[in-house]
Amino acid sequence: MKRLVLFVLVLLLASHKGGAQEAKPLPAADERYKADILLVVAHPDDEGAATPYLARAIYDEHKRVAVVFTTRGGSGGNDYSREHGPALADIREQEARHACAALGITNVWFLDGKDTASQNVLNSLANWGHGANLEALVRIVRLTRPDVILSWLPGIFIGENHGDHQASGVLATEAFDLAGDPVAFPAQVAGASKRLEPYLENLTPWQAKKIYFFSDASDEKQFAGKGPAYSIREISPSQKKPYWRMALEAAKPHLTQFPAEIHRLSNLSDEQLEKMMSDPTHAWWSEPMTLIFGKATVPTQPWEAIFPEVEPRQKAPAVSVEQSSEPGDVLDSKEPLHLELGDPWHFYRAFRHADKLTNLPAARVPEIAVKAGSIVGIPLVIARKPEAAREILVKVSAPSGWKILSGEGKFLLPDEEFAYLRVELQSPEIPEKELKGRQPDSVAVTGMAGDKTIGQAELRVLLRSSALSQ
Ligand SMILES: [Zn+2]
Repeated sequence: MKRLVLFVLVLLLASHKGGAQEAKPLPAADERYKADILLVVAHPDDEGAATPYLARAIYDEHKRVAVVFTTRGGSGGNDYSREHGPALADIREQEARHACAALGITNVWFLDGKDTASQNVLNSLANWGHGANLEALVRIVRLTRPDVILSWLPGIFIGENHGDHQASGVLATEAFDLAGDPVAFPAQVAGASKRLEPYLENLTPWQAKKIYFFSDASDEKQFAGKGPAYSIREISPSQKKPYWRMALEAAKPHLTQFPAEIHRLSNLSDEQLEKMMSDPTHAWWSEPMTLIFGKATVPTQPWEAIFPEVEPRQKAPAVSVEQSSEPGDVLDSKEPLHLELGDPWHFYRAFRHADKLTNLPAARVPEIAVKAGSIVGIPLVIARKPEAAREILVKVSAPSGWKILSGEGKFLLPDEEFAYLRVELQSPEIPEKELKGRQPDSVAVTGMAGDKTIGQAELRVLLRSSALSQ
């Protein structure tokens, strides 16, 4: 009996102790790296495309900003000191860190992409190692848990049209889509099984709410109304100076990129700077700075403010934003034979559909700027149904002065679903002074099967005194 009482007592004590036990907190995410905005850009100094807006977000809206550079920018020239190549990339990484620090941004990451000088997004993705860098970017999204992602516009326009810029926008879009999906890179979201687990990362899936873009196109006006606009001349209530001023200060560490310009600006008085920035031909940023809405996982309007809860209301555009109605892909064609512009244009058509970015601006007629006298390639893709003819005729029309080098004539398609072909033309050499104010030339390729047209690929080509290689 005594033993039974003791046993009951022990049981009671044990259960009592269990009830009073404090819940042990499980480790949470590292708050020091939480961001409201994650900026994803290609090169050291690219952050400058967004700094007037970021200055507002950081100083007056108290937003936390983190930045990812997808390359360390080692392939340009150095006009400041003698280092080149990998050593220049080491310097550029520091310049970018100092530039971000000038705005109070300390959470800065660099991916493994190689600075690739061309206008072709596919060159950049190939040279970077698309998969490995996407995995790394998805990790950073899960680590920083941003509400908003900002990046370069994935698309082809007359302008700098840097393939690396576009590729950073492609990666940012893909990471936006994948970071919230527990099946994508699952080892990142798997729990560590022991304290010194070296492989599994214990992150959690994260879905950002919105993604916006900015562009390196020459004509920024074409994007008006495609997203919220922010004044760069407005005076920051907390800093008592215009937003462009903070952005300009943050650009000064980039001495290996534009030393003469930084030196010149450093010697200007406040009044002279003010004058320069209010002159549209010399200002570094256009007023206002327009962002391009990508997509959202929360109800919003493209033109609405990025953070509507803290920002003054944005105005709806006077003209309604055009809805894209382009067919998704060459695969969608009902015709037995179909020819159209190939990669990278073909890639973007499929990409915009696959990633639900069909309202993203795209040039009405495909366009590009190249150096006058350079060779212009027109990539073509031909889709063929199994029963269709295999012989096609490719005809090229170009303005006088252009010379067709290859890709014209009769071709026998392989007995496959797709065939790729490239037309090459020599563009005319034109003296620099005659290039000013020039309009784009139109080059067109027509595909025929017997007497039937199977498709046309038109490209507007603006000849310039300098441009990145196509
Ligand atoms: Zn760049």
